[in-house]
Amino acid sequence: MLKNTSRRPEWLRKEKILNSDVLNTRKTITFLGLHTVCTSARCPNLSECYSRGVATFMILGDICTRNCGFCSVNHGIPAYPNMEEGEKIAEYIKKTGIRFCVITSVTRDDLGDGGADHFIRVVEDIKREVPGIKIELLVPDFGGNRECIDKIMRLPIEVFAHNVETVERLYPTVRKGADYRRSLKLLKTASDKSKRRTVVKSGIMLGLGETREDLEQLFKDLTEAGVEILTMGQYLQPTMKNLEVKKYYKPEEFEQLKELALKQGISSVVAGPYVRSSYLAEEAYIRSLKKNV
Ligand code: SF4
Repeated sequence: MLKNTSRRPEWLRKEKILNSDVLNTRKTITFLGLHTVCTSARCPNLSECYSRGVATFMILGDICTRNCGFCSVNHGIPAYPNMEEGEKIAEYIKKTGIRFCVITSVTRDDLGDGGADHFIRVVEDIKREVPGIKIELLVPDFGGNRECIDKIMRLPIEVFAHNVETVERLYPTVRKGADYRRSLKLLKTASDKSKRRTVVKSGIMLGLGETREDLEQLFKDLTEAGVEILTMGQYLQPTMKNLEVKKYYKPEEFEQLKELALKQGISSVVAGPYVRSSYLAEEAYIRSLKKNV
């Protein structure tokens, strides 16, 4: 069941573009049999990103083994991983000429390694086919398995991302099955391993009931975990079955929180009502490099 968006505040009524570029992107993705989080999570930026050929690929199928309250990705029993996913994504990159590619996945608690080896295979296949491509991996928590992170961090990727999504206090309702401290540990492990070759990134949604004190603690925790890029966007209830929005933040409130996060020590913050973790990801990566020189 879709959510009625007419009661959203005026700064959250983004116009949808439907032109031949959007349709071509959609057609190519479908033709290659790929999944994107853009469609599965009903992202409000879909038409804007698709019109530029940009998409976030979701590997390991389109069925998640968890059931987070904010997320509209299907959950249940997933299929066996598609071994051709990396080659298909490489084909998409060659066809569209994009220079930066974001890859994420559903959570696969059913697989012994949480899908880490599949991520590795996908990256290796893409880099072999398109050596110059820059890759951002947005990974699940792999059940806290440190070995998985060690292996992922040996890959030639530009950005390692793992979203904490919300503040610690709201985990029991927003991210059942996840653990805030486990996610922080994972980010810290990645940051310790990266030695500045790979940028570490995380993202949160606002509007789920967090307080300013919760956020101050979160910014502090992420800074200590070595996070260099933080994205903050407005949570929008994707379907009637998902958690309700507790607050719509005004654009100026995003600015204030951005300042606060910067002050707490995170070097690059992208914040705004429509910001999603993969929104303008290439630009965020380039900006973060400039801040780190
Ligand atoms: S912001 Fe990310 S998830 Fe949303 S449409 Fe753009 S690339 Fe896809």
